[in-house]
Amino acid sequence: MDDDSVETDVVYLDYNATAPLRPEALEAILTAFHRVGNASSLHQAGRDAATRVDSARRQLADLLNCQPSEIIFTSGATEANNLALRATYACGGTLVTSAVEHPAILETARAITAGTSDDPVVLPVDKDGTLDLGALDAVLDRGDVSVVSVMLANNETGVLTDLAPIVKAAHAAGALVHSDATQFVGRLPLDFAELEVDLLSLSAHKFGGPQGVGALIVRRDTSLPYTPLLIGGGQERGWRAGTLNVAGIAGLGAAADAAQRQLKEEAVRVTALRDAFEAELIARVPDCVINGGRVARLPGVTSVTFPGVPADAILAAMPDVAASDGSACASGAPSPSHVLLAMGHSRDDADSTVRFSLGYATTRRDVERSVVAVARAVGRVRTLLAATA
Ligand code: PMP
Repeated sequence: MDDDSVETDVVYLDYNATAPLRPEALEAILTAFHRVGNASSLHQAGRDAATRVDSARRQLADLLNCQPSEIIFTSGATEANNLALRATYACGGTLVTSAVEHPAILETARAITAGTSDDPVVLPVDKDGTLDLGALDAVLDRGDVSVVSVMLANNETGVLTDLAPIVKAAHAAGALVHSDATQFVGRLPLDFAELEVDLLSLSAHKFGGPQGVGALIVRRDTSLPYTPLLIGGGQERGWRAGTLNVAGIAGLGAAADAAQRQLKEEAVRVTALRDAFEAELIARVPDCVINGGRVARLPGVTSVTFPGVPADAILAAMPDVAASDGSACASGAPSPSHVLLAMGHSRDDADSTVRFSLGYATTRRDVERSVVAVARAVGRVRTLLAATA
């Protein structure tokens, strides 16, 4: 590794914010854009568009081991989460979720229960970011829970949730289970049939598809009140009206197919790169702390606290590395990461945390270059802070 090497291109380590478009997805999108056709039209052009959508539906169903008919295409995971919580909460009863969910869950839960006597129950996590199952059991014992919504993988730390005991306990108490699997899909194998959750959300751009398209998967035998967010022409079995985004959906399907073909090898390769990144970073910055580092995590994610060193200053000092302070959705907001606070971090530590997320196109060279840049940036900021203290 050459500490003094000068390279101008940026190392992209922000796959959890959005992954680069896979070439297969780009090709499918361009092909679709070159054709005319509304997937609801009955003429040949419409049938061609519908064929593209059907094929993407099958590709996604293959990746998830679900039925094509269980897929509702949406504009992304935000919409899928909104749809899932509205539909399940409409069954009547309490909505239960966790303190480390994405704002697309937490804010939706707050919004749809506002003005009712039914505040959502937000379950705590421990310092590793793992859900408190005892707290879940205590809420389920009340017997009035309509839905438990827990993410499969955290977007800030990559910490994974073991859904099996949650599903078992929730179903035994008569509650439905929804999982925001946005960061998990296309990165680790997922079997919707085996998982036994009732609803699952995903977004294409996290696994190499385009932004602005995603899906809600609803188990076929789940009976839910009809609560679409968008009402109109009745597309997606009435769950999501509006002309289908044929090119986006085709891109999602192609990305799902490409991700599936490389899933196991990619997971192993990216995990090894992440582990090397962490080991080399710790060697250079020994007091840094890996959040959730003791429990199972997504392959490419590492959330690193540099005590006493503000994350925004670190990011500014390494313009050749694209990483994130907290979650991208929250960046720009002055509040510290709710995920890190829920894990027991102080506000200062939360503000000194950088998320690096690696993915399918990350190379060993990217790791080598970024580790050098990060260590150098942390050193520079520390020197500056010491000089101005
Ligand atoms: N859930 C999680 C866990 C996420 O990481 C994201 C994206 N940051 C979303 C939901 C929202 O996805 P989208 O912005 O694509 O709707």
